[in-house]
Amino acid sequence: MRKPLFLKIFAGYTLVTLTMSILMLVFSSSVIRTSYRDVTAKRLEYEGIPLRALIAPLVQRRDLAALNRTVREFGSSTDARITIIDPQGVVLADSERDPSTMDNHAHRPEVEQAMSGKTGRSIRYSATLKKDFLYLALPFDGARKVIGVLRLSIPLDHVDTLMKSLLAHLALITAGILAVSLAMAAMISHVVSAPIKELARASGRLASGDLSIRVPPARNDEIRDLTEAFNHMAESLERSFREFSARKDELETIVSSVSEALFVLDAQGRLTVYNDAALRLAGVANAQGRYYWELFRSKDMGALLESTSPDQVSGEVELGGKTFLCSVGRVPSGDERVVTLHDITDLKRMERYKKELVVNVSHELRTPLAAIKGFAETCLDEAGGEMREHLLVILRHTNRLISIVNDLLVLSEMDERPMPKVQDTRIDDLAGNVTALYAQRIEDKGLDLAWEGGGFSLRTDPFLVEQILINLVDNAVKYTERGSITVRASKQGRTTTIEVTDTGIGIPREHQRRIFERFYVVDKSRSRSTGGTGLGLSIARNAATILGGAIEVESMPGSGTTFRVTLPDLEPRDA
Ligand code: ADP
Repeated sequence: MRKPLFLKIFAGYTLVTLTMSILMLVFSSSVIRTSYRDVTAKRLEYEGIPLRALIAPLVQRRDLAALNRTVREFGSSTDARITIIDPQGVVLADSERDPSTMDNHAHRPEVEQAMSGKTGRSIRYSATLKKDFLYLALPFDGARKVIGVLRLSIPLDHVDTLMKSLLAHLALITAGILAVSLAMAAMISHVVSAPIKELARASGRLASGDLSIRVPPARNDEIRDLTEAFNHMAESLERSFREFSARKDELETIVSSVSEALFVLDAQGRLTVYNDAALRLAGVANAQGRYYWELFRSKDMGALLESTSPDQVSGEVELGGKTFLCSVGRVPSGDERVVTLHDITDLKRMERYKKELVVNVSHELRTPLAAIKGFAETCLDEAGGEMREHLLVILRHTNRLISIVNDLLVLSEMDERPMPKVQDTRIDDLAGNVTALYAQRIEDKGLDLAWEGGGFSLRTDPFLVEQILINLVDNAVKYTERGSITVRASKQGRTTTIEVTDTGIGIPREHQRRIFERFYVVDKSRSRSTGGTGLGLSIARNAATILGGAIEVESMPGSGTTFRVTLPDLEPRDA
């Protein structure tokens, strides 16, 4: 249950006031009672001492008649009762009753004390009169012993009356204090709770979205600190919200101004942000909260979105008869993914045209080139002198053109078969076939050929590996004038490494990065004279990439070159 602040403060005040009042009452009543008794006893003593002097001769003489008379006379002038008792406890005279009717008083405590020569004092409750009595006993001293006792007694009910009146006063004072407490509690609770209530109200409005709410700082205390902290918090919230809104607007403008289809997916694959191009592509008016697979029916896109890679992944997807480059990136702060679809239909068409053109031109060139070569060779047999020199130049250039056309056809054939045709291939057979092709040329140049390693099979596309080896061995032969060519093959786990090392001219460091580019040659005149096309290494790298492998070069100009190819064993499903 909620207790208002006022009640808590008031309850505290009341508790303290009541406790203080009760403590005061208990303590003061005990002090008052004790001092009242002491004062009364003293008064009785002061009254008794002259009386004792007056009646001592009567006691000594045992003049009971005179004694009783004197006692009664004295008793009427005071509120105390006077009794005279002899050493045996017999009552000799009494100011209020007939002594012959009274009990023996020898064993009353005050009488016993007085008998021993001291002033006796005792308080007892009278069952008959239902009140406490104070007894004071003074001894009559004889020659050697006590000859009697003068006892004075008085009821103590005065003190009860006094206590009652005290209690009444105290109750009145407590009530007054309580009333003041109530007023103070009301005032303090108002002073304390008003700004807290104001803060609570402001917090509620802030929570419900009113970021402009502020609380005026009231007093100079902790509540003022709290108020200032609240205002500060509200201010920074408002500022952050403004910045956030500005960023959001900025982002929305950017997203909608992008001509490519762009959308953001949450962890469940629902669209949360998207632009008009995405809506047009999906053919819907609103895509908020819809699953991407309802809007874009593409298996390839699904595969890209299922990728768990933390990096951006991209691939081609077909949508509505068009080709798109789909890029999927993860938002670093969460599970959201940003998807862009870039229309590359025209690009793909152009690329296809270019490839077809290259293939068609190459095919068209093949026949005339073969004819030129044939005629030039025929003429060469019959020509002599300067004509023979000219014919040799024609033949060299024709051969180079034929090589270029052949390389271009190999490259386009590779493009046509991006899926390797995987089969178990013995590396020794492959290497043997290739080195056999170059055995004559190697011998003619006086080079040594070495074959190391081997003795294993790999799962790959033999046509593509053969293309790699042909180009590497061809280069090694072309660019080595003396020394040796070594072909090495080894396998670790599922990875095959093939190395072709020569002791030729080497490749300067600055060219090593670019030699795999199409038509890139280090030394144009040398390449031309050796019949190079600048396409060999790009064929080799293309083939290695299709096979899921890599190719790298290590070379020192003047001392030789090593090309290293790594190829993984392919599973039929990789194919
Ligand atoms: P090319 O048909 O001209 O040999 P490649 O693409 O096969 O074209 O090679 C590109 C260039 O790399 C060559 O022109 C040559 O300068 C350099 N090159 C390739 N292999 C070697 C090698 N084994 N030794 C020295 N240079 C080489």
